[in-house]
Amino acid sequence: MEAIPFSRFKEAFIRILENLEKHREELNDLDAPIGDSDHGESVCRAFARVKEAVEAFPEDQKDIGALFTAVGKTILFFGGAAMGPLYGTAFLDAGKVAQGKSSLTLPEFVEVFAAFVEGVRRRGKAEPGDKTMYDTLYPALLALKGACEAGKPLEEALEEAKKAARLGMESTKGMLAKRGRASRLGERSIGHIDPGAASSYFIIEAWFESLM
Ligand code: ADP
Ligand code: MG
Repeated sequence: MEAIPFSRFKEAFIRILENLEKHREELNDLDAPIGDSDHGESVCRAFARVKEAVEAFPEDQKDIGALFTAVGKTILFFGGAAMGPLYGTAFLDAGKVAQGKSSLTLPEFVEVFAAFVEGVRRRGKAEPGDKTMYDTLYPALLALKGACEAGKPLEEALEEAKKAARLGMESTKGMLAKRGRASRLGERSIGHIDPGAASSYFIIEAWFESLM
């Protein structure tokens, strides 16, 4: 079975930052009506530090777990707002599962991504339908897992997960926010895509494309 090598996980972080920067204004604008307009700034600032940390990662070290742990620590340290602890925990938890691995097969990556998504849930206590980044991440996980169990090839599985993530992001538009700053708006939070759900989509889009 084809395994995804360390190098692709490393390169992914460059593309994630590029994609977040491309959508920085859009993310700020999504955070305007139901938050404090900073989401694009927050994620770009955090992932710019991540890029530095990844570039400083020792050339001879090929441990995907150690890479994700370094990324998680960087986001926890430099990433402010709500998104810092959430994405930071996600990468730390993913790092534990990937520890000692220099490549990941699709079933192994499903386990690692499951830990990532569960990290967000554990840290934020969000459930599906609460209008958060979890509404992008959880459907993506289900699609990835389903495709893997159906024996689909890596690229197809990642494509299906990406599509599910996009639909998940779009589904937050009709939801009433139950977590975070947007929850203070109650009914008025309905009708806007959640900014965290959008940044999670842009992260997955760049991340999964890098792994194909
Ligand atoms: P802040 O509201 O502190 O400015 P950000 O703008 O960085 O935070 O991030 C807001 C996003 O964080 C929301 O759009 C939502 O997706 C996510 N979020 C907030 N609270 C939670 C939570 N408890 N669980 C999961 N995601 C959350
Ligand atoms: Mg905000």
